[in-house]
Amino acid sequence: MATHTTKMLIIGSGPAGLSAAIYGARAGMQPIVVQGLQPGGQLTITTDVENYPGFRDVIQGPWLMQEMQAQAEHVGTRMLWDTIVSVDLSGPPFRAIGDGGDIYEGDTLVIATGAQAKWLGAPGEQEFSGKGVSACATCDGFFYRGKKVLVIGGGNTAVEEALYLTNHSQDVTLIHRRDSLRAEKILQDRLFAHPNIKVLWNKAVERFVGESGLTGVELKDTVTGETMVEPADGAFVAIGHAPATELFKDKLELDSSGYIIVEPGTPKTAIPGVFACGDVMDHTYRQAVTAAGTGCMAALDAERFVAAREFAARG
Ligand code: FAD
Ligand code: NAP
Repeated sequence: MATHTTKMLIIGSGPAGLSAAIYGARAGMQPIVVQGLQPGGQLTITTDVENYPGFRDVIQGPWLMQEMQAQAEHVGTRMLWDTIVSVDLSGPPFRAIGDGGDIYEGDTLVIATGAQAKWLGAPGEQEFSGKGVSACATCDGFFYRGKKVLVIGGGNTAVEEALYLTNHSQDVTLIHRRDSLRAEKILQDRLFAHPNIKVLWNKAVERFVGESGLTGVELKDTVTGETMVEPADGAFVAIGHAPATELFKDKLELDSSGYIIVEPGTPKTAIPGVFACGDVMDHTYRQAVTAAGTGCMAALDAERFVAAREFAARG
């Protein structure tokens, strides 16, 4: 068991954590990134990325994250393969324990543990992930221009995804397991008024069907028990996201959905020296570029925090 110390400890190696690392390393903070179970984060489970600035042609999510990691290492980041199982935020220094018992201590802590889309767990869902099944209309809707798409769910996310998809498709169907939506009324009004959206009520997804790509979704009526296949080129699962904040319960303020609450417009948590960036603090935008942006902000604020403490210590 080893103890690793740094001026900037970063938990998470997605776009937020790696952007924080690039800025932190260039500011002489000698950051450590603890990568977690998904090195590179959520973009490593997708294929085409077409909206990350700087690339004229479509790039691959895993490739983008390899490049981001290489850039972070090139400027001096230490990448460590471990998963944090507990944190002590009474510092500085802030302390995190890895699952093998290693101790990580940082004068500042940047939390970039991200969030995960919830999946239905229905047969075919993972098989057709990236080949017709997605959990992000903003990311993938563009690939379904002029095609028939389904959205599964009945909350704000599902209704927003359905409305967003009308930018690309004239044939959008919302599928919900009950006969009323959970989404806010204003969103429901927009949904029901939209000529290109229809709703299938009381339908649960039994399985995703297709061959090399998705061709439809088998649905079961939750009232009558009848089954049917709804043809589709794309299906967007929109049943919510779960931020990775289990570690921080009772230690940081979380909102009702579990996201870390930060000072508006900043990555600052209520604990000076502890910053949160990316999807773990952002339930609205949830994009690689916004995660990278808030990662940059966290590093700049962390650097200022350390500089202020060093200045004060000099008297
Ligand atoms: P994440 O990418 O979620 O990374 C979280 C990191 O934290 C991971 O490295 C994980 O291992 C680590 N971690 C978690 N818990 C621990 C722990 N206890 N200890 C150590 N490490 C831990 N966005 C776009 O802009 N364009 C797209 O085309 C696009 N496509 C997408 C396609 C899919 C299928 C998905 C799921 C998402 C897509 N997104 C896209 C969204 C984008 O991936 C996220 O917004 C972005 O990855 C969030 O970055 P993040 O760094 O905040 O968190
Ligand atoms: P949510 O409100 O929890 O809604 C999830 C929806 O998915 C519900 O309709 C639920 O059905 C359905 N669902 C869950 N599990 C399912 C399953 N296994 N099979 C089929 N359907 C399933 O999640 P959300 O829409 O992501 O919203 C999360 C939070 O973020 C909310 O507080 C929301 O207000 C907020 N949010 C706000 C905005 C905004 O303000 N513009 C946008 C997005 C999200 P039931 O209804 O039957 O339970």
